[in-house]
Amino acid sequence: MALVSSTSLLQTARQNKYAIGAFNVHTLEMLQAVVEAAEEAQSPLIIQSTVGTVKHLGADYIAAAATVAANRSSVPIALHLDHCSDFNVIMSCIRAGYTSVMIDASHSPFEENVAATQKVVEAANAIGINVEAELGKVGGVEDDIVVDERDALLADPAECAEFVERTGVHTLAPAIGTAHGIYKGTPNIDFDRIKRIADVVSVPLVLHGGSGIPEEQVKRAVSLGMAKMNVATELRIIFSDAIKAVFAENPEENDPRKYMVPAKQALKKAAMEKMHLCGCVGRASDFR
Ligand SMILES: [Zn+2]
Repeated sequence: MALVSSTSLLQTARQNKYAIGAFNVHTLEMLQAVVEAAEEAQSPLIIQSTVGTVKHLGADYIAAAATVAANRSSVPIALHLDHCSDFNVIMSCIRAGYTSVMIDASHSPFEENVAATQKVVEAANAIGINVEAELGKVGGVEDDIVVDERDALLADPAECAEFVERTGVHTLAPAIGTAHGIYKGTPNIDFDRIKRIADVVSVPLVLHGGSGIPEEQVKRAVSLGMAKMNVATELRIIFSDAIKAVFAENPEENDPRKYMVPAKQALKKAAMEKMHLCGCVGRASDFR
């Protein structure tokens, strides 16, 4: 099937209390690996790229590869642009064929975040593209931050409700204590905050910083309303480690297929494990 907008995928996921894995890819092999995982798991899938990867590969190359993958696949696949603060990059990705975008103006004051998000939602609604926005600050939340500071960084439930109401955004990433990258200790997730946000916001919620969150914490966050889990760093490490292992054994290796195949296999396995955590395995049947 063609690439689909992630809006209906995520609404269905939230209604049925599971999350869809959204995996950042940087190469063709990484894209193929997560698609093969979704196909084997019969799971809906969101392929993501960062702005950096768009600059590295080109939005048109990424969209073309994702389109081929979706056309060959029996499961629904969306292509999403992760964390982007530049309206022009968002528009160029939509033109290239992305079906979902994130406008991240979370580092700006609330009113500016509302205005920037409104502008993207207006453009996206004309062609049925999903828009995700962020409230609060995901990155930089450390375990040793004192409560007052931490509270200021995390999303406020009343502000979340007002933000969704005023912007019409389709999916919301509220900062609830997760962080990007690999956690040094256990993530300090504010589950009560997720619940209070989910009580007042009906759109699907997005869990950023999904690398290395323990199983029971992912399941609890999903049960409370998180319908999309972003995983980037952990998958990148697994992919790279598999390549390093080939070179450790054979430093002379110079056939990219010889090191890309094991890297793909390792990434595919890891993506399937994340799909199990999210509860989206077998859920492609929800969209037939
Ligand atoms: Zn993120």
